Amino acid sequence: MATDQKIRVRFAPSPTGFLHIGGLRTALYNYLFARRWGGTFILRIEDTDRTRTVPGGAEGIIRTLRRAGLDYDEGPDVEGQERGKYGPYVQSKRLTIYREHIYKLVTAGAAYQCFCSPEELETVRQIQIAAKQPTIYNKKCREMSSPDRAALIKDGRPHVIRLAIPEEGSTTFSDIIRKEITFENRLIDDSVLLKSDGYPTYHLASVVDDHLMNITQVIRGEEWIPSTPKHVILYRAFGWTPPEFAHLPLLLNPDRSKLSKRQMDVAVENYLDRGYLPEALINFTALLGWNPQADREVYELDELARSFNLPDVNSSGAVVNLEKLGWLNGQHLRRLSKEEYARRAVPYLEAASLITPCPGGWVNEQSGTIFSSQDLQNALSLERERVRNLGDLPEALSFIFGAVPEYDGDLLIWKDAEPARIMKGLGELAEFLELMRDWTESALEARVKAWIDEQGYDTGQILWPMRVALTGRKASPGPFEVAAVLGKERTLARLRKAVEKLS
Ligand code: GLU
Repeated sequence: MATDQKIRVRFAPSPTGFLHIGGLRTALYNYLFARRWGGTFILRIEDTDRTRTVPGGAEGIIRTLRRAGLDYDEGPDVEGQERGKYGPYVQSKRLTIYREHIYKLVTAGAAYQCFCSPEELETVRQIQIAAKQPTIYNKKCREMSSPDRAALIKDGRPHVIRLAIPEEGSTTFSDIIRKEITFENRLIDDSVLLKSDGYPTYHLASVVDDHLMNITQVIRGEEWIPSTPKHVILYRAFGWTPPEFAHLPLLLNPDRSKLSKRQMDVAVENYLDRGYLPEALINFTALLGWNPQADREVYELDELARSFNLPDVNSSGAVVNLEKLGWLNGQHLRRLSKEEYARRAVPYLEAASLITPCPGGWVNEQSGTIFSSQDLQNALSLERERVRNLGDLPEALSFIFGAVPEYDGDLLIWKDAEPARIMKGLGELAEFLELMRDWTESALEARVKAWIDEQGYDTGQILWPMRVALTGRKASPGPFEVAAVLGKERTLARLRKAVEKLS
């Protein structure tokens, strides 16, 4: 690979919807490649297809990239842009550039006006389908004489401009991931370059921009392979040297069909909203088609950037396995400091109305219980190992921040123990705890266990109902951890409530 050249790559999404996992993977590989070689990562919004562009699409993509931590390096100045310095390149603001370029092609005979109506084109297509021929433009207008052409233009007849693909031979390009790819020219469509509304198509705009922006490697999804020979022909027609190309493997559903939103949620922002960490999403996405060939799977963005090697990307499809995303998220959750974990979790607890900021910390408005930052960190630690994402925390920890949920008294009964004995045990436990001063998890555990022995109770007879009394749940963190986080007063109140339930 040419690494003596200053590397410049781009992510060029069309704002036709939200950023999906495939788009994030393309953006990420471009970003990693740029970082690896000290190059420049450009964001270019390809919005020249007015019928497919959705309002807010570009903003959504930019916001998602930013949330994922993929910042772009360069762009035109945009007044009032949030980030201060520059916005991304936006093709709809560069229309004159494409128009100037198309005329060079027409003058050189590398492109031509086509006056065929949509109805005519459709008829030709149907005939081709019936004859099982490739459905490409029949080149009718390519043969037109110059005077006829001039007359129609003078008449104001609507037209598009098409690329004149050479009739003979083939077009070959080399792909960093797949080696050489060849297309026979007779099977390549004379694609439209400029539409009748004066907007360029993707082919023209992206080739012109990749050239003018000095893009050195075009890294994009495999679905663009059929477009690449057209682009190579365009570069040659302009007299330009094409960049290098790297086509990334398809993403697949677990059943190995092409990744689709019908089978799974593919919107990156939905995962971020649900509380998957950007670090985990990036880690997960990076491994869709590449791995750093080490015996580990958990990486931070900068580590990925240090080892990313484009030629090592696989050419075969990569399965998107959400189980693995959940696992990686757990790993990254564990890597956060207690403070950082709490900082990221707070918005989820607030959104669920479990806590509201108040002087000195947070308050649960229903019960009036106040939590300091330390209380909050301790409470969050209870579930750090168990939750899949931050969005699961409110439900997992509602019994800490809010009241204990309503539960059935039968749940307090350990195996086939006598309810009366359980009630007695819990009551005595509450009395014993009342006298305890050192309210830490380790002290609680040591003292309560010794007390159970002294009293001749079975461990389960005390610890099971204690845990249920504190959490109201069949499954939860252990009784000592929970008691330590709840504090003495709330613990005793919950034990007494349980005793009442049994009486
Ligand atoms: N605008 C194209 C897209 O939406 C970009 C393809 C390319 O990277 O050349 O994916």
